[in-house]
Amino acid sequence: MDQDKLKLFEPGEKVGIVMVVTGQGKGKTTSALGIALRAVGYDMKVCIIEFIKGDMYSGEIDGIKRLSPNVELHLTGKGFCGIMEDPYPFSEHRANAQDALKLAKEKLFSGNFDILILDEINNALRLKLVDLPQILELIDNKPPLIHLILTGRDAHPEVIKRAHTVTEMKEIKHAYRLGIEPQKGIDY
Ligand code: ATP
Ligand code: MG
Repeated sequence: MDQDKLKLFEPGEKVGIVMVVTGQGKGKTTSALGIALRAVGYDMKVCIIEFIKGDMYSGEIDGIKRLSPNVELHLTGKGFCGIMEDPYPFSEHRANAQDALKLAKEKLFSGNFDILILDEINNALRLKLVDLPQILELIDNKPPLIHLILTGRDAHPEVIKRAHTVTEMKEIKHAYRLGIEPQKGIDY
C-alpha cells in the first residue's frame, strides 16, 4: 500500500484503513482509545492489544469494560522494557510480544472485529520484540475491510509507507517537564 502506488478510491468505496499514530508528544494511545469510543456509537466491534505495557494500571482497563462487549482490551507486556529498573530478560519481553502478535493475527482474521488497535507496537518493533516483516505481513494480508491502527513512538518508515493515515504527535509542552506528576484520567 505504498502511497506512491496507491490507487485512488472510488467515492463511497468500502475500505479498511491502516492508520499510524506516532511521534514524541502525548496523545497516541488516547487517540486510539478515542476511536474505539467513537466506533462503539455505531455498534462496531473493536479489539485493542497493548504491546509492552501490562504491568501498570491505567483507567482504560476498567473504562473499556463499560464498552463491553463491543470493545475488548488485552494487555500483553510486562512494561519497562530495557529501562534500568526492568527486572525481566529481553527474551521474556520478546516472547510476550510474539504472543501478542499471534493474538493480533487471530483477532485480525477472526471476522469478529471492525477495528484492531495494536497499541505501542511501533515501540515493540524498535525494541526488536517483533520484526519488521512480521508487521508488514499483518498489514499486507489483513482482511480488506478491517481498520488497523498502530501506535507508538518512532514508527518504522516501511510501516508509514503502507498506511493511509499517519499522524505525528508533536510535543509542544508536557506537564511532566514542570515536575507535574502523571495525572489520573489524563495520563493513566
Ligand atoms: P497517552 O497514553 O497519554 O495518549 P502516548 O500514548 O502518546 O500518551 P506513550 O509514549 O505511550 O504516550 O507514553 C505513555 C505515558 O507517558 C502517558 O502517561 C503519557 O502521558 C506520558 N507521556 C507521553 N508523552 C510524554 C512526554 N513527552 N513526556 C513525559 N511523559 C509523556
Ligand atoms: Mg501510548
